[in-house]
Parts: sequence; C-alpha cells; structure tokens
Amino acid sequence: MPELPEVEAAAVRLRSIILGRTLLTLAAHHPSQRRQLPPHAIRRASGQSVVRVERRGKHQLIHLIDGGLLHIHFRMNGDWEFTRVSEPLPRFARVTFDLDDGARISLTDSRALCTVRYYASGRPPVLALGPEADNPALTGGAVRLSLAAKRGPIKTALLDQRVLAGIGNIYASEALWRARISPSAVAGALSLAQVKRLLTGLRAGLADGVRNAGHYRTGGRVTPFKVYDREDEPCNRCGKKIKRIVQAGRSTYYCAHCQR
Ligand SMILES: [Zn+2]
Repeated sequence: MPELPEVEAAAVRLRSIILGRTLLTLAAHHPSQRRQLPPHAIRRASGQSVVRVERRGKHQLIHLIDGGLLHIHFRMNGDWEFTRVSEPLPRFARVTFDLDDGARISLTDSRALCTVRYYASGRPPVLALGPEADNPALTGGAVRLSLAAKRGPIKTALLDQRVLAGIGNIYASEALWRARISPSAVAGALSLAQVKRLLTGLRAGLADGVRNAGHYRTGGRVTPFKVYDREDEPCNRCGKKIKRIVQAGRSTYYCAHCQR
C-alpha cells in the first residue's frame, strides 16, 4: 500500500499536471466509484478549476475554485496515470479527469478499491488524522503522549493514523528496525528515549522512501528496504535472518536479534 512518501510523490506529479487547469469532464468507470461519485457530484465538480493539491497522510485533496474538493485515497493499489484525451482509456482506469488542455488524469487500480469523493464548499471530509509523520516540529514527547493509552503492540499503534498520519505497514517495520525496538513492545510502555529513537527511525525511513518513491511494489526485484518484505534474508546490521510475524492481520518484518 502506498504510504506517505509514495502518496507525496503521486501528489507532486498530480499537482504538476492539474494545478490551475479546469476539470472539463469527470467520469467514474467502475460501479464502486460510481457509487462514491454520483452524477450530482460530477455535475458540481465539472467546470471548476483547481486551486490547490494537498496531501494529508495518505489522502490527496484537490481543492476547487468554488471551495469544493475531491478527496482521493489510493487504498492498496491506486495510482495516477497521465495520458491525453485522444488516447485510449488506460486499463483499470476507475475515475478520469479530463482537463481543458487535453490532458487526461486517470486513477488506475486493478482491484478497484481506491476512493474518490466530492465535498461541497464548507463541508470538508473529517479525516481524523494525527500530525504528519515527517513533520520536523514533531517531538518525542508529543508522540509518547499519543501512545500513552495504547496497551497493544507498538507496530499496530503506528498504523493508527490518529497517532501519526501517513505511516503504514512498510515504514512502521522500517522505523522499529532502525530504532531497535521490538514490534511487540507495548506502545504505551515505551520510554521517552525509545520514542525519540523511533521518531529518528521513522524520519530516516521516510527519507529513504522519498528517494525510492513510486517503487513500493517489490515483486521480482531487490527491495530498497531494511526489513520490509525481506523474510529470511540477512539483517543488514547483525546478519541474522529477518523474521515475519502477523500482527492485527498485517505482516511485520523484524530482526529478533537487534530488536528486543
Ligand atoms: Zn539484526
């Protein structure tokens, strides 16, 4: 699933194409996207020009000149594809925005789980997000406070977007490896020193992610990650095998030797 660095890279590409342009035509091509983006929403957004593209956590917001906005979430597999109106529709195009300069922006998703919703002016979506995970002003003390009431494992707590926005399965595992913290440690019991290490690890992992952005799909190639998707491969630090466990239904990768 695309996380903060990948969604940020996608938003940057989107912004470069859509900012200042007018949405001539919007179309939903799949039944689930048609339910989210019904004809009245399409009518409201059509003809509007785009004044801002914003990323919050893993969400993208396209702000329209009348104050309305389009809220996009890639979920597991979504991505932008940029073509021309004159070209055939990309395979797996779920929603398309045709612009006044002949560009076509398609939200493509083989699994059709991505979401696009319209919000009228003055009624923005409630995203329930904590601070951005890469916010340089974020302190260990603040993160520790938001973890304080959590009795579950730290890996699962890091996936809670109300704690830190933008972190998912990849960067949670990566940060815990860097901070040498067990993914099973009780979130609320971490010391301030541990949370500070975790924050440092998160920032380093996200910075690596920004350098590799767009390459989160690891099938058939060497992964750019320290532990994620590297079960049974040697730990970069100690050489012992990376382990995989399942926490809250999601895979966690870690080094049992380095992360106690
Ligand atoms: Zn190790």
